[in-house]
Amino acid sequence: MDYSILLTADKTLFSEYRNVPLLQFLGCAPAEKVPKVIFDALSPYTELQEGLPVRAPYDVRLVESVLVDHLGREKVKVVTPKNIERYIDNDTKVVGVSTMDPLGLGPVTMMFTNGGRDTGYTKYYFYQLIRKLNFLRNADGKRFKIVVGGPGTWQIEIRSKVMDELGIDHLVVGETEHVLPQIMDDIVEGRADRIIKVKDYPKVEQIPLIKGATLHGLLEVNRGCGRNCEFCLPNLRSTRNLPIEHILKNISVNVKYGEHSVWAQSEDIFLYSLEDHRYMNPNWDALVELFSAITGAEGVKHTNPTHGTISAPASNPEKFKKLSEAMKASPDNIIGLQPGLETGSVKLVKKYMPRKALPFSADEWPEVVFEGTKVLNENYWVPAFTAIVGFPGETDDDVIDTIRLIDRLEKELPEKIGEKAHWTVTVLSFDPLAALADSEFFDVESQLTEMRFYLIYRTWRHTVLEVERFLPHIVKNSLAKGILTRFFRYGSKKVLDALGAWGKARGYDPEKALTITA
Ligand code: SF4
Repeated sequence: MDYSILLTADKTLFSEYRNVPLLQFLGCAPAEKVPKVIFDALSPYTELQEGLPVRAPYDVRLVESVLVDHLGREKVKVVTPKNIERYIDNDTKVVGVSTMDPLGLGPVTMMFTNGGRDTGYTKYYFYQLIRKLNFLRNADGKRFKIVVGGPGTWQIEIRSKVMDELGIDHLVVGETEHVLPQIMDDIVEGRADRIIKVKDYPKVEQIPLIKGATLHGLLEVNRGCGRNCEFCLPNLRSTRNLPIEHILKNISVNVKYGEHSVWAQSEDIFLYSLEDHRYMNPNWDALVELFSAITGAEGVKHTNPTHGTISAPASNPEKFKKLSEAMKASPDNIIGLQPGLETGSVKLVKKYMPRKALPFSADEWPEVVFEGTKVLNENYWVPAFTAIVGFPGETDDDVIDTIRLIDRLEKELPEKIGEKAHWTVTVLSFDPLAALADSEFFDVESQLTEMRFYLIYRTWRHTVLEVERFLPHIVKNSLAKGILTRFFRYGSKKVLDALGAWGKARGYDPEKALTITA
């Protein structure tokens, strides 16, 4: 078949957020509270050359690669919402939109937007993009179809009326590398279902190499997990590990376009080439081999993984040290990691995530979190934890357990390792996904309790401390360093003040959050 396709994503997914760690979460902030002028200043579009983005989201690059092989290089373009109109012509039959959080139902956004009462920038800019596409095809009489895919499609699937409201022609749910050419041909020929659900998975050899650079240097290392936490969507994917040669080829594409950092995408990096599926002891030799190859690749200056389970470093500090050395971790080369702390309640760990602590038992979870954080910090890693509030059946005692764990990290860790102690916790709102899909969304406005408020306040208070002490060491953009760190110090304190006022309005005293101790 002969037709053209444009691939894009909303503005929140096309920015490097000035290379400030964790600022990608800004897309989850409410448009009603964070002025647009500030959001836009912190999230400029990635570099464009001759109108086209030099770097693009990794999943868009995967789709591009499959479709270029199917239709030819001239027929597939990755474009930004900023100037997409320039590239739509009569030959354009599909505009494919990748999305992460289209309706603002993601757990971070739900927390920051008061349970969706405000509008997260992720939703704001997704709606803006889809409306622009509708305007363009209505105004010019173009016939292209709007097709939405990507990791956030579950939100549109459960609120499918939005497809009519926004004029979305097709929703593609699931991993598609092995079937995408057929899906696109069917869409163009008008024989595709409105919601296309792909239930099987591409084999490793069906996952293509990228043909253009990725944002943040993000490159996939492995898919799937196997710890079977009941609330986790990625856990439903089958586990696959990309060969080192594949990863190195992708790195060379990024380096060619000036990206010298490798952000290794994974559900849990410590499961790379896992052999011990029973107790989940990491395959340390495979991990060292992987990261030695990455750091040894020409042009690579820094690497860090996206996600990883805290039980892995706790399980073998010696092996973890060797891995850190392979990654060249040092005071000048801090490695970031996003582990799930989830909860300090052993009861909830046993109920919803009994394999999370493996090779330790679920009973040991709080100790695993503490020891794992200590091992990370000792080796120049800094975890940015997420915790979940509003698990079905969660009680005040469960929340107090989490606050106690945070208090212990805050007080005892510096006693043991001094200045090296650094971590953050972001509280997420429970979303009913995977095995818990029949539960209700947690609503922070109507289901806030005194203890839940203390947990949210306490974690943000710690973030303010880390912004004060640690941010200047990790902001790489030296030109803007002074301005940015001053801005974030000011901004994070303002958020803490606003949180305190929010709690007081409900009759809770923020100072009491400090009286719950380990
Ligand atoms: S460990 Fe993380 S990725 Fe794995 S199932 Fe649990 S929440 Fe999901």
